[in-house]
Amino acid sequence: MSGSSEPLFRDDAYLRSCEAEIVSVNERGGIVLDRTVFYATGGGQPGDTGRLVLSSREIPIGATVYGEDRSEIIHVPTRPDDLPEPGETVTAFLDWDRRNRHMRMHTALHLLCSLIPYPVTGGSIGSEESRLDFDIADADAIDKEQLTEALGALVAADHPVTTRWISDEELAANPDLVRTMSVKPPTGSGRVRLVAIGEDGSVDLQPCGGTHVRSTGEIGKLAIGKVEKKGRQNRRIRLRIEG
Ligand SMILES: [Zn+2]
Repeated sequence: MSGSSEPLFRDDAYLRSCEAEIVSVNERGGIVLDRTVFYATGGGQPGDTGRLVLSSREIPIGATVYGEDRSEIIHVPTRPDDLPEPGETVTAFLDWDRRNRHMRMHTALHLLCSLIPYPVTGGSIGSEESRLDFDIADADAIDKEQLTEALGALVAADHPVTTRWISDEELAANPDLVRTMSVKPPTGSGRVRLVAIGEDGSVDLQPCGGTHVRSTGEIGKLAIGKVEKKGRQNRRIRLRIEG
């Protein structure tokens, strides 16, 4: 059984809960809803955790992932027992503190990306620490103090973060928009979601399907960890939110 799930987080990352109907429960106990506020793992951002509340009980959710065709969002229970039936109605509550940290971290990585004029080769977001890998041959190209100061200035400026959609053709005509070599934006559906920071993307503009804060001021104080060498050309930069 399968069915598509409306990804409510895509238009409003600040939704913490929603009413939904259970579409299907797969053989491993994964629960598919007709709509959800739970972000599914993708683009370096972990999927959400939380709980599904039914009329007589609660089901804790430990992970959220896409099904094979990405139209399906699967909520993975922490215990594969006492599973619900298709057709049942639930209220889905996500773990907001964790998600909000992911939103702040994710937006901070866009800022980091905007300050370092080298290709991104990988990255990952965590609630405690995040990282981006850059293809930089010259290790001295990264000045931690300067970078920390520049990040702080972008946060303090409280730049707006907005999204809009462009066609696959528009993206193909503007290859410079793609900063990440390891994660190609999903094309083929006819449209691609662009995330802009600053007026008209003056700070950063790139395709991204993740969740972000509304303005950079929400990120808070950032600290850069140690810059590591990963392979001959790669430099890994770690980022933490203080507080
Ligand atoms: Zn993003």
